[in-house]
Amino acid sequence: MPIEILPEQVASAIAAGEVVERPSSVVKELVENALDANASRIEVVIEEGGRQLIQVSDDGEGIHAEEIGLSVARFATSKLRTADDLHHIETLGFRGEALSSIGAISFLEISSKAPDQPAGAVLRVEGGKAQKPKPAGVPIGTQVRVRNLFFNVPARKEFLKTDPTERRWITTLITRYALAYPGVSFKLSQEGRVVFRSSGNGDRREILAEIYGLEIAREMLGLPGGGTSELQVQGYLSPPHIHRSNRRELTFFVNGRWVQDSSLSAAVLQAYHTMLMVGRYPIVTLFLEIEPAEIDVNVHPAKAEIRFRDSGKVFTVVQRAVRSALIGQSPAPPVDLPSRWTGQAHEIEGQQSPDWSFWHEAPSRPIELEAPERSQGNGDDRVPLLRPVGQVGASYLVAEGPDGLYLIDQHAAHERILFDAFMEANRSGSLEAQQLLDPVAVEFSPGEAETIEAHLDVLNDLGFHVEQFGPRTYRLHAMPSMLMSRDPGVLLRSVVEEFEEDETPLASEIEARIAARICKRVAVKAGQVLTRAEQERLLRDLEACLAPRTCPHGRPTMIHLSVASLERQFGRR
Ligand code: ADP
Ligand code: MG
Repeated sequence: MPIEILPEQVASAIAAGEVVERPSSVVKELVENALDANASRIEVVIEEGGRQLIQVSDDGEGIHAEEIGLSVARFATSKLRTADDLHHIETLGFRGEALSSIGAISFLEISSKAPDQPAGAVLRVEGGKAQKPKPAGVPIGTQVRVRNLFFNVPARKEFLKTDPTERRWITTLITRYALAYPGVSFKLSQEGRVVFRSSGNGDRREILAEIYGLEIAREMLGLPGGGTSELQVQGYLSPPHIHRSNRRELTFFVNGRWVQDSSLSAAVLQAYHTMLMVGRYPIVTLFLEIEPAEIDVNVHPAKAEIRFRDSGKVFTVVQRAVRSALIGQSPAPPVDLPSRWTGQAHEIEGQQSPDWSFWHEAPSRPIELEAPERSQGNGDDRVPLLRPVGQVGASYLVAEGPDGLYLIDQHAAHERILFDAFMEANRSGSLEAQQLLDPVAVEFSPGEAETIEAHLDVLNDLGFHVEQFGPRTYRLHAMPSMLMSRDPGVLLRSVVEEFEEDETPLASEIEARIAARICKRVAVKAGQVLTRAEQERLLRDLEACLAPRTCPHGRPTMIHLSVASLERQFGRR
């Protein structure tokens, strides 16, 4: 084919594809326009997952009748004048591409009226061809209707997911914007049903409750706002016992703009390090405010990515803010005691049994545990000195502290102790590998063999000295000395499984996860009777841990009953 310049309509449909990937991209652009117009109410109506209709109405500043024709022209914007303005963008839009792109691939209708105008106007665009604007009696604000999206781009249409998937994207988008702009009232209807609404009263907890339900909203930890003078971080974090199976609930707004940014995700995940179970992710929404000159927002046609001038600093500030909020605010979680506790204290043979006579029966009404006092982000979550009282069910230690009673899950607590020791030894290079008298050969699947090959250095760092022995067979010569009594083949296999859990783990993340898995295998089990000296030792070691209240997988190691709550339960207060 000879080279030819594409006709205008083909060119603009191609360009539109960069801005409008799916129905939710249209919703995003239109909502951002409404926010830029300082709307206080935004209403979105969706039919057939957005394929049939996307309608966004706002009560914002509107478009002057004489400018409405221009609004759908390519690179037509009221938000930017010079290239220099790109350095301090304070609006969500600035590229002047959204309306023209949407108009190129749909049937578009815009009606609008500015407050200072006697009448409004309406404009229709069909597949990139704009008609003449007409006067119209419409309310103040703007309404954009997009019908038949991608009618002239069949390739894109085929790639759309099912309606429920598209609807989920749109709902996610609107709920996140509602959270970021709590002063704006949002209403979203899909297929004739109102699926989300926010009051616009400024209360973010209320919106969290709409999105995640009351219980989670109540438990979400607030990040009160901190950081540096150039970078402020605020938001909401799930406590370690609330988690999801994927990263979808990690949301970041930077200067009011929803962005996808892998370094922000990494900073958050690192802050949760060892507090969450393997393969589990928190629910986090962060709002960052940064000097506009410190970011480049013009990286991506859909404006979904930005670049930080100093991303290392942003990473550190975010990671610290999240970490200190987590450590300061997540004590042993409140637990519904009777459902887990039968009230039966087990007597252990040959053990001096603690005096449980005062607790023979389950309490007749549920014990309410008070929300444990939250130490305010001073980074210290240690437990006080504990006096061992005894062991229950050969699984839990009972201990007394200055502030009440502690029930400690011996397995979880030991996992935490071993994990901290393992990581410390690894960090300081003192992790000992011990030679096996008889090297053990283990055969793996081709995929697993590739995994081992790719991680030989990590294995070596962790004290597993491995060499290839056959096409898919590896020989283990040495392993960490703390694991010597275990079956080396089984251990090596479980380490390799850990590598395969996640396609793109950070190196530091994977070492910690392997360590956590190993410690789980080695820690004392539930059902193991501990001598008084062993109980004492476990408590001492736990006291020395920096984050003693959760095991490396994020489960609680202890339940704390304060003196005050005991007194309340016994009617003394
Ligand atoms: P951009 O937002 O990048 O400026 P758009 O194509 O999204 O580009 O919009 C073009 C122009 O149309 C905007 O600059 C704005 O002046 C006007 N406009 C679009 N939507 C609205 C709206 N909801 N309310 C007021 N003005 C709007
Ligand atoms: Mg725009």
